Amino acid sequence: MQEEMAQSLPGPVSASQVLSESWATSPAVRRVMQGNKSRDTKPEIAVRSAVHALGMRYRVSARPLPDLRRTADLVFRNARVAVFVDGCFWHGCPVHHAPPKTNAGYWATKVQGNRRRDRDTTRRLRKENWTVLRFWAHEAPLSVATQIATVVRKKASADKSVARGTKPCQ
Ligand SMILES: [Zn+2]
Repeated sequence: MQEEMAQSLPGPVSASQVLSESWATSPAVRRVMQGNKSRDTKPEIAVRSAVHALGMRYRVSARPLPDLRRTADLVFRNARVAVFVDGCFWHGCPVHHAPPKTNAGYWATKVQGNRRRDRDTTRRLRKENWTVLRFWAHEAPLSVATQIATVVRKKASADKSVARGTKPCQ
């Protein structure tokens, strides 16, 4: 997680790190990166199934705020928790992002733009009382899922206690 739990640092070395050397030069790899840009990436799916296995239900690739054109990977509407699983390449993971040697300027601008947009999305959602959880795609899915479940359950039970408090005594 990048924002609230910045102390949980990147986990084990992933295959993408090994691949990073050739990212710039292989057109095939570049095509894969472009294809995986938006949704249903493998890490995202792994996180989704792990969260599902913990008994949590959520929306996939949904807008937390209907009027805001930003899509979170997992949305827990009742708890107001939005989860983003950020790809190491596209979002500039400090561990795995290796700037491509070809068209370096293009890629740098692109990644910087993504990061700026990420920060802006986080800020806008927080303003509307949403909790934003951001993880790197390289983080272990089970650990990510556990962190998500903890936050969502905590928020859900907090909401319940508020709701109880507003009811009149019998
Ligand atoms: Zn990474």
